Amino acid sequence: MENKCSRHLVVIQPSSYCNLNCKYCYVPDRDKKNVISDSLLEEIISKVINSDELSKAITLLWHAGEPLSVGIGFYKKVNSLIKKYNKNNKKIIYNSIQTNATYINDEWCHFFKENDYKISISCDGPEFLHNLNRVTWSNRGSYNLVMRGINKLNEHNIPVSMLCTVTRETLKYPQELFQFFVDSKIKKIGLNPEGVKGRNKNGCFRDNELTTILKEYRVFIEKLFELWKTTDNPLKIREFDVTLNIINQKKKDPNFKQMRSNQNALEIITIQKNGNISTFCPELAGGTFEDPNKFVIKNITEIDDFSELRSSKKLNTISEQIINGHKKCEKNCEYFDLCGGGNPNAKMYEKGTFDCDETTYCNLSRKLIYETVISGLS
Ligand code: SF4
Repeated sequence: MENKCSRHLVVIQPSSYCNLNCKYCYVPDRDKKNVISDSLLEEIISKVINSDELSKAITLLWHAGEPLSVGIGFYKKVNSLIKKYNKNNKKIIYNSIQTNATYINDEWCHFFKENDYKISISCDGPEFLHNLNRVTWSNRGSYNLVMRGINKLNEHNIPVSMLCTVTRETLKYPQELFQFFVDSKIKKIGLNPEGVKGRNKNGCFRDNELTTILKEYRVFIEKLFELWKTTDNPLKIREFDVTLNIINQKKKDPNFKQMRSNQNALEIITIQKNGNISTFCPELAGGTFEDPNKFVIKNITEIDDFSELRSSKKLNTISEQIINGHKKCEKNCEYFDLCGGGNPNAKMYEKGTFDCDETTYCNLSRKLIYETVISGLS
């Protein structure tokens, strides 16, 4: 599979701890407060910057567990380590945070602005939807805490992107959801259907109800697309933006094929708080119930350069299965050129193998979106 991404994505888990206990969360050990050690953090930053394998610009995404729970001091340390190892700015480094927003205050906002951090918030829409799943450890809704953080970011003119987990309940309220994004001044949203990932074995979109779910999801997406098309606002909805972009490229060049970085080894690297490394999709870092290290390739302390991972038998076995699944998609699916093949993690967690094509995830977040956008354009 050819690689056309302009950046590497390195996802780093400063701690697995989260102050929330969202009902669908797949991150293991999120009640454990230990933070990545100073020496391990330094080893990660130095190896990422000095790696020959990671030759392009790099986005460091701080994620998995609540990344702001470790405090501003942690990210000040990150900044000094980047300065220490990135002599003469030999690599372009971007920092990005996926957060539940509950810790955000003026001090964090100043820090984000001064250091050009990109912020994405996890939030599921208006209070009655958000509080269904995004709860504290004492099972109280987190909506007010999250909105306090979003309002702070807006006060400081920091652009807010949002990831919204879509459940069966969300499907009933496209209008309310859309209005919430507009009212909250969100710049960009991504819609993630609740999936069966790692430890979340009870995802609400189950295969055995697929026909009904597809109908409900289609009505939801069509309504959202109509609102988005007909409302004058700057909100970007990832699913529609990306699809329109691909369709335009395909119109210009009929041979165009979408590429996905999560199908190429080492395009995306995930490093856990103990230094364990996995690749392809960040979701794979949590492994499975039976084996939390199922997709761990090596520990950062065992390598001098990320290129050494390429000779790992485990990595090559996973890669081979992903390529075979990709070929199945190419052979069997009419949307392959637009899609570029499915998410390996969806294939693994839904079907138990990377070597397959269609999943419920791809039905909801790919095929149905393509059909809606294509018919909406005609
Ligand atoms: S839409 Fe689904 S089946 Fe089609 S290429 Fe994408 S992942 Fe494969």
